[in-house]
Amino acid sequence: MTNQTAINSLIDITKSWGGTLDLVTLHEYNATVFESQYKKNKGWSTPPDDFHALHWENKRIITVADKAMCGFLIHEMGHLFLNMIDPFRSNEDEWEWLGWEIALAKLVGCYKLWSEHNGSYFMPRDPERPGENLVSWGRANAKTKSVAAYNRLRHAKDIGILDASYQPIPKR
Ligand SMILES: [Zn+2]
Repeated sequence: MTNQTAINSLIDITKSWGGTLDLVTLHEYNATVFESQYKKNKGWSTPPDDFHALHWENKRIITVADKAMCGFLIHEMGHLFLNMIDPFRSNEDEWEWLGWEIALAKLVGCYKLWSEHNGSYFMPRDPERPGENLVSWGRANAKTKSVAAYNRLRHAKDIGILDASYQPIPKR
C-alpha cells in the first residue's frame, strides 16, 4: 500500500462521513490559508508542518497534493471527526483518540507510514499515566509502541469511537 493509495481511501472515507479532503496545488493552498489568516483565520487551522490545513466547522481538510502524507491526514481527520470543539479554540486530548488513528491507518493499509509520520507525537511511557514521563513515538522502542497501541485501541473501543470490530466511527 502506498501513501497515494492510502490517501485515496482517506478521501473516500472523509466523504462518506460528510466531510471533504481535497488535494490542492501549493498556489491554491497558500491562497486559501494565507488569505484566511489575514482575515483572522476564517476557521482554518494550520499545523506546523505547513502543507495541510483543516476547517473544523466546514469539515474540510486541504493538503498540497505532492506534499500529502497519509499519517498527518489521519491525525487531522481525528480533529475533524472527534473533537467536539474547534481545535483552533481548544485542543482536546489527542491521547484519547490515538487508537482511532491506529485503526484508521490499518483500515487504509498505511500503518507503517502512519507510524513514521507520527514520529514527533509525544506520549506517556506508561499509557495509564497520561502527561507523565513523555517519549516521542519516533524514539520509543517497539515494545513501548506496541503496549501504547494495544492500550489505545482498547480505550478507543471503550469510549465508543471504534466499533466492536475495531473499525473507526466519527463522532460528528
Ligand atoms: Zn493534533
